[in-house]
Amino acid sequence: MGRRPVRRLTASVLTRRRFLTGSAALGLGAGLAGCRFRPEFDVCVIGSGFAGTYLALELVQHGIETALVEAGEGLASTFQAASTGEIDYPVQASRRIGLGGTSGLWTGVVTRLFPDDFRLHSEYGLHVDWPLDYPELEPYYCRSESLLSAIGYPSPNRPPKHCEYPWALDPPPPAPELRHRSGDGTGEELSFFPLTFSRRDPDRPNPPPLRLVDREIPELTADRHATLLTGRRAVALHAMGRQVERLETLDADGRHDEITARIFVVAAGVFESASLLLRSQSSRFPDGLGDGAATLGHHFNHHPHFHRQLALPEGRAVRGFYRTHDLDPLLRSEGLNACNFQLTQSGGGQLGISPELDPASSHRVMLSERHDDPLGLPSLEVQAAYTERDRRTIDRCLAIGNDLAAQLGDTSGPAFHQRFHSHPAGTCRMARDASSGVVDAHGKVFGVDNVYVAGASTFPTSGATNPTNTVVALALRLADHLIESLT
Ligand SMILES: Cc1cc2nc3c(=O)[nH]c(=O)nc-3n(C[C@H](O)[C@H](O)[C@H](O)COP(=O)(O)OP(=O)(O)OC[C@H]3O[C@@H](n4cnc5c(N)ncnc54)[C@H](O)[C@@H]3O)c2cc1C
Repeated sequence: MGRRPVRRLTASVLTRRRFLTGSAALGLGAGLAGCRFRPEFDVCVIGSGFAGTYLALELVQHGIETALVEAGEGLASTFQAASTGEIDYPVQASRRIGLGGTSGLWTGVVTRLFPDDFRLHSEYGLHVDWPLDYPELEPYYCRSESLLSAIGYPSPNRPPKHCEYPWALDPPPPAPELRHRSGDGTGEELSFFPLTFSRRDPDRPNPPPLRLVDREIPELTADRHATLLTGRRAVALHAMGRQVERLETLDADGRHDEITARIFVVAAGVFESASLLLRSQSSRFPDGLGDGAATLGHHFNHHPHFHRQLALPEGRAVRGFYRTHDLDPLLRSEGLNACNFQLTQSGGGQLGISPELDPASSHRVMLSERHDDPLGLPSLEVQAAYTERDRRTIDRCLAIGNDLAAQLGDTSGPAFHQRFHSHPAGTCRMARDASSGVVDAHGKVFGVDNVYVAGASTFPTSGATNPTNTVVALALRLADHLIESLT
């Protein structure tokens, strides 16, 4: 892996550091008592997407001085990435660099992981368990669905839920009756449940789904405890021993600056969070920040999407947007990964399939030796491929999809088209200890006292469902943790 030394800070920047006479004057928590600086901010959050913005909003509402550092669209072209594995992963289409992050691109499907998704190793001998369980996240899913203005219709086939959706969907038209048929033609009936979306809020200027620049970011900047710093690309976190004291940034003209804070939260998306930690090398952490650097950048995974436009008989058009996860346990008990099957009314009827993929260690992002981006930083290289289990999962799910289409009376032919690879995840895996991951169950980087990671980069596994509700739920859980330790 290629590494370039990060440019040294200029003297003028260094002299702006403010030294303190004693740690007591900082009012620091026990873990930060050794800090020598008077930091400018309590918390510095890097990235203004769903994770960073909702986290920052929670913090400032509790009087915590928070900086939100955002590269912004002006620096987007400096983020270079190349895909070098078997899968030509479309990094640039899978995320957005700009204020509000990928909230500017997302489609607005609001889903939860299922309880089993957190316990794949215990339940099926697959992959790893999460270091937290579904019940720990459930209250945060409720808060997240409220923030995301989820409009949904209760269904017994969803993950268990102890709150109502903030906006109730009218009862949808019944989903088509389909079965998972075994060889003899019998089989269990599948329950397709209606999808939950981020709703159209009449007060928002833009059509759905929710875009953070419409309301959340203005709300944040109106708060006196918030400082939004745009046009700054986070380059490296600089550690003294177990403490990070400052974030080094670059602007579009290549000017360095630095931000000091008691706590740093890296919420820069799956690719850039890993890349920032990889660039944050020090004598203590020569391979990237934290004791878990051996897995930093690894276990990248995502969701390929296969779809088929259906040609259905007169009067059998699909009405509504449905999904089933009923086959997840069956597939996993066969040693495969989960798949969601979607039925949507688009064009009269469309069948979609999104499998979960192996979070394989060899699938990774790393700093490139070959490409340099315009700011002189090492650019990003993504290596992704299908494992043998991924291929078997896809084959099996497409075969099931063909049978579902046949039950609907489809005459379009068996071909599925692959539309895109989306929902990047992994690279800063959450784990019980540094031997198997980068961050703990709250997102704290192992071996570092004051740096956290928020976002899908921390997912140990991704299930076969959309990530953002889980990203926001985890960010809210982290906010509670930080509020408790800082106030
Ligand atoms: C086309 C599309 C459709 C999608 N649809 C859905 C959907 O329907 N449902 C769903 O659940 N999910 C969906 N997703 C996924 C969803 O968008 C992401 O899960 C979510 O946006 C991740 O939020 P985040 O805050 O972790 O990262 P991001 O929103 O990507 O935010 C990261 C932020 O960090 C900033 N940044 C990055 N590097 C730096 C740096 N070095 N310095 C300073 N700032 C930096 C970026 O500019 C950005 O603002 C979709 C994604 C795409 C691409």
